[in-house]
Amino acid sequence: MKHVRQFGGGSAEGRATDKMLLGGKGANLAEMAALGLPVPPGFTITTEVCRHVMQHGVGHYPEGLAEEVAAALRKLEQLTKATFGDASQPLLVSVRSGAPASMPGMMDTILNLGLNDDTVVALAARSGNPQFAWDCYRRFVAMYGEVVMGVVAPSEHEELPFDRILDDVKRTHRATRDQDLSETALREAVALFKAEIKHRTGTAFPDDVRTQLWGAIGAVFASWNNPRADYYRKLNGISAAMGTAVNVQAMVFGNLGDDCATGVAFTRNPATGAAELYGEFLFNAQGEDVVAGVRTPEPIAALAAKLPKAHAELVKFAKVLEDHFRDMQDLEFTIQAGELYMLQTRSGKRTGRAMVKIAVDLVAEGKLTPREAVLRIDPAKLDEVLHPTIDPKARPPQIAKGLPASPGAAIGRVVFTATTAAEWAQRGETVILVRTDTSPEDIHGMKAASGILTARGGMTSHSAVVARGMGKCCITACNTLRVDAAKRTAVFVGGGQERRLKEGDTLTLDGTSGEVFLGAAPLVPARLGEEIGVLMEWVDSFRKLKIRTNADTPADARTARNFGAEGIGLCRTEHMFFAPERILAVREMILANDEAGRRTALAKILPMQRGDFAELFRVMDGLPVTIRLLDPPLHEFLPHGPAEIEEVATALGKPVIAIAAKVAELTEANPMLGHRGCRLAITFPEIYEIQTRAIGEAAAEVAKAGITVLPEIMIPLVMVPEELRRLRLLVAKTFDAAIGSEKIPYTIGTMIELPRACVVADQIAAHADFFSFGTNDLTQTTYGLSRDDAGRFLPTYVDAGVLPNDPFSVLDPEGVGALIELAVRGGRSVKPDLKVGICGEHGGDPSSVGFCHRAGLNYVSCSPFRVPIARVAAARAALAEAANETKK
Ligand code: PEP
Ligand code: MG
Repeated sequence: MKHVRQFGGGSAEGRATDKMLLGGKGANLAEMAALGLPVPPGFTITTEVCRHVMQHGVGHYPEGLAEEVAAALRKLEQLTKATFGDASQPLLVSVRSGAPASMPGMMDTILNLGLNDDTVVALAARSGNPQFAWDCYRRFVAMYGEVVMGVVAPSEHEELPFDRILDDVKRTHRATRDQDLSETALREAVALFKAEIKHRTGTAFPDDVRTQLWGAIGAVFASWNNPRADYYRKLNGISAAMGTAVNVQAMVFGNLGDDCATGVAFTRNPATGAAELYGEFLFNAQGEDVVAGVRTPEPIAALAAKLPKAHAELVKFAKVLEDHFRDMQDLEFTIQAGELYMLQTRSGKRTGRAMVKIAVDLVAEGKLTPREAVLRIDPAKLDEVLHPTIDPKARPPQIAKGLPASPGAAIGRVVFTATTAAEWAQRGETVILVRTDTSPEDIHGMKAASGILTARGGMTSHSAVVARGMGKCCITACNTLRVDAAKRTAVFVGGGQERRLKEGDTLTLDGTSGEVFLGAAPLVPARLGEEIGVLMEWVDSFRKLKIRTNADTPADARTARNFGAEGIGLCRTEHMFFAPERILAVREMILANDEAGRRTALAKILPMQRGDFAELFRVMDGLPVTIRLLDPPLHEFLPHGPAEIEEVATALGKPVIAIAAKVAELTEANPMLGHRGCRLAITFPEIYEIQTRAIGEAAAEVAKAGITVLPEIMIPLVMVPEELRRLRLLVAKTFDAAIGSEKIPYTIGTMIELPRACVVADQIAAHADFFSFGTNDLTQTTYGLSRDDAGRFLPTYVDAGVLPNDPFSVLDPEGVGALIELAVRGGRSVKPDLKVGICGEHGGDPSSVGFCHRAGLNYVSCSPFRVPIARVAAARAALAEAANETKK
């Protein structure tokens, strides 16, 4: 097996498809060389060698590698007409990492390798520029000393020794900038750097160029396992087993004079997607200067005036490469004495907006098919297109981080109670609601706020679900936040410093990353270009899954319909109970001691619910609307604290002590597993009866007005078939009575939210017209993880790699997914055409949507702002499946 692959001089022993073996950089250098582009020649040592080293230890290379490298070096010498270590015409090389997956800046690089006290003299003579030669040398000794010989800063708070020495030299020679250093000063720096290396390591800096080369190769392979790279891999789900390749390439110099430059360019604008060459460069500089930001680079256009030939070539090659790869490319280039050299090309990172525009434009230009364009879309990135975001060019320092529960960005003044949020919003303030936790009672405050930040919770806690539904930015589980709502203050702890917040202070939230910023960060608004409409037409022609929405209000339903929702998959009726004018009637119902008392209160609720449902039916004219009957534990609706208890007691004309006693009686140790879901209706059937009546009467009323109503009544948290059998009878009888002579096609189904329900799904299906998986509860009950508390420790699990991700965000295919598949099989064994959907928060997560497609579900239902994301994810899942089938 060959471990070294050559490139340059118009040919290459590899292609772009060899990324696993050659790494991204090596594979694309080979491709560019094969295309005849001016790539400085070189060779790539494959990732296999890295894997060998990982297995056998540092410095242990596969047999024959030394000979292969020596042969490659000889070839390189022929191509460059220079000799490694030669004192008159020396070959200098760069040694760079390059893994199969892009890991920008995480591993090590060494430039100018091959310099020593002899070759530097030759470089000075050949370039006619001794200052340049010695500048290269001092950079090389410092880089080598740091990366290969381990001369690093003694602690995080101290400077790198070479930086300190260079500062001293600058001071002595009265130079303010690096480029002001004279040859003499640079010589002095090199000598001092070498002395420092000897002093710190006991070993001299190697003058022998082959020793230098093998030292650098070893260090670059070792950098695959440095903590930075390790962290980056975990963050991005990159396998540690892949290894990196090492690229050894002839140096070209952008810092030889004023006809030299180095820079980066994108073949299209990575922020907007506009078809224009976009990038920056520095005259007379080496690559690291552009990245380090010491000098301000100039826009690419400025190149045309000074180096027109190189500029024209860059424009030409950018087009060649983009056409060749059929994607926007991110290029690195160097111009040496007016000659352009291409150092790297790769698929360019881009914003959500640019992603959509570029995909659609490439189809219009005939470079991609619509199918390929859809496969290029990262559904999760569409979020950026739909919500305002923080201007990436002006991010202030973050002060805390939580879970990115609902995307978008929000700026506002801090308030600590829902009521204050509502009041401030009423008077025109933009507010951020900061709470330890939210409860359904906070809903009006959440509605009024532009963003929500909670110390507790998780991805499916109340605040997260509700905020996503509203398309509102929300961060939960901000573990360093301590809120004292009574004192109207909060504090961010940790990191050795406390930051206090008081009511009225300004915060910025980034719900896409989970970051919290003090003060107002600049935002850029969502701009839906016409491209997204074009893209969505293709998407809809490919997908098989229907996409519905979770919506509780007409406004949410309207938003979702505009985003392409094909029905409501979940209307949580309890969310309608919290309006201030309703909560009293709801409380009266809960606090009643007997059925008669409950019925009196329910009679007050009935017309309100009827009105809500009628409005939802109107908005969703012609589309199915799934309404879930009451689900949460009753005590969630109870008054909390003495003041509220007294208020309710007065309103209901009951003694405070009686209300307090009832509250105590209804309080549960673990309400999520308590008296909730359909259990409420087994004990108090009149609750579902009245809700069903409201649905039936609303449907009849709206149908009379010519609206097509397709109600689907859904019963939550069924654990045994008998619950559903009884409640179905009740619901059907009540609904039939409520619609009178009106003909309304309706169905009655159930949520599958418990492992037991999955196991006995065949028996449950006998009483169900449809199943809808409540994967929030199903995840909670399968894992035995509380969805409201797990946010406190799940991030640690994910960071440490114990779990691949938060199972409340990304559906767990092995456990929860297997139960879903079992239930689908069970249900359809009894009713082959059983309609099956999902309405947990996973319905808007792209990988979970993919799972739902493969599991044969009919639809997914998600919050309104995720509808477009789910549409794209569903199309991609269908295309991936079709591609797999053709392969077979
Ligand atoms: C679920 O459990 O997945 C669900 C949709 O219901 P809720 O979140 O209201 O419990
Ligand atoms: Mg549920």
